[in-house]
Amino acid sequence: LELPHFYFFAGAKTPNSFPVPDLPELAFVGRSNVGKSSLINALGDSRSARTSTKPGFTQQINFYAVGSLFNMVDMPGYGFAYVKEEEKVKWKELIESYISQRELLLRIYVLLDARHGLSVSLCNNLVILERHQVAFQIVLTKCDLVTAVDLARRHVLVEKGLAEFRHAVDKPLMVSSETSAGIFMMRKEMLRLAGG
Ligand code: GDP
Repeated sequence: LELPHFYFFAGAKTPNSFPVPDLPELAFVGRSNVGKSSLINALGDSRSARTSTKPGFTQQINFYAVGSLFNMVDMPGYGFAYVKEEEKVKWKELIESYISQRELLLRIYVLLDARHGLSVSLCNNLVILERHQVAFQIVLTKCDLVTAVDLARRHVLVEKGLAEFRHAVDKPLMVSSETSAGIFMMRKEMLRLAGG
């Protein structure tokens, strides 16, 4: 099972440069280094070239069209230690204006390293999603780096931690871009959500 070829069509550094919503959107957000770029690459095919959003590059929201089915929205990573306070404020403004405006936003995938649990800072960000009534789903990344037993335990703990969030939808997904574990399942889920 593959997703249609996807291509970059817009990058937004400010809220007034968001493209006009045309298709349902699935967005990805996570701390820098969580494996977001790797996951998006793994979900696509080899022809789905992506622009680099590595540290040092201007933070922007990147929009990719997945065939004509839906848009995949790559939010800038957060948590860079060296980022100035004013940059953090800008990041928050950009994200908040996106999630508060997009009528076609179906869901945000919140990426979390399978070796880490729900931290206080992550929960604070989830509270923001709650406030804007945006459905979100946790995706445990880099699952190849933990044993099956630890992964199962982590999954249960994360699910319990999400109980208080009304907009946490479905069970956390578990993926590895390294081994492709869970990638097929995630593609299937995305297609189902987008109605494809
Ligand atoms: P981003 O900053 O969230 O976009 O993270 P990247 O996709 O650039 O990945 C950060 C680092 O984690 C890189 O060194 C990747 O090779 C590594 N990484 C990403 N996904 C996986 C995974 O599923 N398994 C393992 N073992 N490493 C991964």
